[in-house]
Amino acid sequence: MSLFEKFLSIQQVREELLTNGINPFHLTIEKIISPTEAVINGRTTILVGTNNYLGLTFHPDCIQASQEALAQEGTGTTGSRMANGSFASHGDLERAIADFYGMPYAIVFSTGYQANLGVLSALAGPGDTILMDGDSHASIYDGCRLGGAEVLRFKHNDVTDLDKKLRRLGDRSRRTLIIVEGIYSMLGDRAPLKDIVAIKKQYGATLVVDEAHSLGVLGKRGRGLAEEEGVEEGVDCIVGTFSKSLGSTGGFGVSAHPEFEFIRYTSRPYIFTASPCPSVVASTRVALRIIRETPKLRQQLWENAQMLYDGLEEIGYTLGAEVGPIIAAMIPSKEQALAMWQGLLEQGIYVNLMIPPATPNGESLLRCSVSAAHTSKQLETIVQSFANIHSSLKEPASSLST
Ligand code: PMP
Repeated sequence: MSLFEKFLSIQQVREELLTNGINPFHLTIEKIISPTEAVINGRTTILVGTNNYLGLTFHPDCIQASQEALAQEGTGTTGSRMANGSFASHGDLERAIADFYGMPYAIVFSTGYQANLGVLSALAGPGDTILMDGDSHASIYDGCRLGGAEVLRFKHNDVTDLDKKLRRLGDRSRRTLIIVEGIYSMLGDRAPLKDIVAIKKQYGATLVVDEAHSLGVLGKRGRGLAEEEGVEEGVDCIVGTFSKSLGSTGGFGVSAHPEFEFIRYTSRPYIFTASPCPSVVASTRVALRIIRETPKLRQQLWENAQMLYDGLEEIGYTLGAEVGPIIAAMIPSKEQALAMWQGLLEQGIYVNLMIPPATPNGESLLRCSVSAAHTSKQLETIVQSFANIHSSLKEPASSLST
């Protein structure tokens, strides 16, 4: 088999799924209208699958800051900070992130994916151990692999399993990195962080929390799950992304350990890639200020999440256990999930179709991400559309094409 022939099996699976010609993994948004609306397949569509939790992508202050930076600093940095130098705005953003978290050291990366690659690979290398939650995001898996540490998984959110594995490591537990997420991206459940911090302290391990989906969402100041649970002092490093509540692209790591600064010198995903564009840096800084100054956005997000969760639960969908900005409806098969996803799209509702192997426990999901920018009318329309397709759950998948 040639290198290219191996893609034939993927092509076959894709064709089996695409009976109606719409490719859910290659969707084109023809025109973006607002944080919650776009034109897809010629139809005005409500977006409820974009991780735009606070709806900041069209905030006038973010746009203005971005436009000013574009005019003053140009379209791109054209190189890495190590080789080509940092723009002053990179340092300003790092100080703003450090200040936001009340921790002295922050490093900005070009994406959230790279933040995980950069931080995890630099912290744990050959001779070290990583204990990662089994449901972790792909960037965590890849970051663990990049460093060359021995990687072990503990069962999702299972502190007993984590404890057992740390005990077995004996003295090696002191050179072990534990990595968990604040809110998990598929089912929207949270890590049992208080217990994890207690275990980490007991074994003298190091703890990193990926707050990608919890920044701007949880905690009195919007810092995430560690703040919400009151355990920030027990977390050695928080990583996060700009691409969800902050409405841009990029990622960061933040820590109270002075040695954290040296990650810049050892982290290949920091050294060997171009630094974030000035316009992105500028809008992110303003978005961070908005998160700080506008707690009512967070309140609105939670009101909206509760409304959508209640609505879908009332219709009879089986949902992830926790109310939150990620609301996943579990669908019995991937064929049904695809047909229902298409049915929703035809009614002008865009959600995320999530099927194995990308999902935990082989689940097929229709995943919604709620925004503070959704209006109650939009949420009602979303619930009504889910109600319209609910009857298809009882039908065999073969009769589901809409
Ligand atoms: N961590 C988690 C938990 C994520 O869900 C994601 C993206 N979905 C990332 C990191 C990567 O972030 P980005 O898309 O900004 O690279």
